[in-house]
Amino acid sequence: MSKHFDAIIVGQGIAGTLLHYELSKRGQDVLMIDKGHQGAASYVASGLINPITGRKYVKSWMFDELFPEAKSTYEEIGELLGEIIIKNHAIVRTLSSIKDENLWHSKSALPGYKKHFVAEVDDAEIKLQINGAVSFGEVTGGAKVNMKKLINLYRSLLAKQNNLLEEEFSYEDLKNQDALSWNYKSYYANKIIFCEGWQLKHNPYFAKLGQEAAKGEVLIVKLSESKITKSIKKKIFITPLKDELYWVGSTYEWEFDDAGPTPNKKQYLIDALDEMYNGKYEIVDHWAGVRPTTIDRRPLLGSHPDYKNMFVFNGLGTKGASLGPFWAKQMVDYLLDGTKISPDVDLARYS
Ligand SMILES: Cc1cc2nc3c(=O)[nH]c(=O)nc-3n(C[C@H](O)[C@H](O)[C@H](O)COP(=O)(O)OP(=O)(O)OC[C@H]3O[C@@H](n4cnc5c(N)ncnc54)[C@H](O)[C@@H]3O)c2cc1C
Repeated sequence: MSKHFDAIIVGQGIAGTLLHYELSKRGQDVLMIDKGHQGAASYVASGLINPITGRKYVKSWMFDELFPEAKSTYEEIGELLGEIIIKNHAIVRTLSSIKDENLWHSKSALPGYKKHFVAEVDDAEIKLQINGAVSFGEVTGGAKVNMKKLINLYRSLLAKQNNLLEEEFSYEDLKNQDALSWNYKSYYANKIIFCEGWQLKHNPYFAKLGQEAAKGEVLIVKLSESKITKSIKKKIFITPLKDELYWVGSTYEWEFDDAGPTPNKKQYLIDALDEMYNGKYEIVDHWAGVRPTTIDRRPLLGSHPDYKNMFVFNGLGTKGASLGPFWAKQMVDYLLDGTKISPDVDLARYS
């Protein structure tokens, strides 16, 4: 039996999920095709939305525009799914030298930064467990998104609505029906949008768009003696999950043969954790994922140069949780109303 949809989305990571949600809100009937989240970065991410990042404590790109959109969108989807998806979350930086401390304090005085720097850090618990700090700096005004929960619950909703096809997308089976619609096996759609994350590189229509792939590995550990409720960042992050479980990561690798977990990076994470944390721990799991980054570290949105009803929503890089909601909305405005995509993220910049 054939069925006609307004659109097909390929890939149900955070990008595809948010795009599906925004299109549905605008009354579109959209088929999702996903191969069971194999290699999905969104399954591995800790989901932090961090206003102040990097060694130089820099404010994240467009944070003041992205954050309100992210908060309201995840709250809304949470209501739809009957679960809390986003929570406010504090991030503590270990300041390892006087130079770090001076830089931290100078940044805290900058316009637009001050509201994210906590004046008096409650570090009593942290001091007992984290090594190698002269002092601690706390970042406020960020959040943590439970991306795995969101994707799993949204997947169940799609399945219930008969809007999910669980399989590897076969590019050979995609036919340009006419200038206005696509045929994929027994399905027809006016538009097709690819949200395959780093695996976009296998897509014959969009193979070269300035994509880069940054593999990351993480450990899930049980810290039975820890009462830490904030994320702590030194060389790596320790981020609370639930019960006594913590997310420990991550690594960055730009050249790799295999997208799975490796013994080398596991050892790197163990060494970094041993250096940072002075309690006992038990390793419960070891994950790997690949971030879909781009040469200029900006998202990739837009349409195919020859097929005007074929699109990409990708390039969320290291910040899918914060970038996703704002850019999914802009993508939907472009798809449905023809509004212009911001040149910073328009894939035409790579043509
Ligand atoms: C270790 C690590 C830590 C991270 N931490 C954070 C963080 O704290 N905060 C943050 O905001 N971001 C973080 N990120 C980045 C974040 O995970 C990404 O920005 C985001 O997940 C990218 O989402 P995506 O939907 O584009 O890709 P993905 O999550 O990779 O999803 C792509 C989907 O497409 C499907 N797919 C691909 N090809 C096909 C095909 N041919 N047929 C069918 N299905 C297909 C896959 O199954 C998958 O489900 C982290 C990433 C990693 C790896």
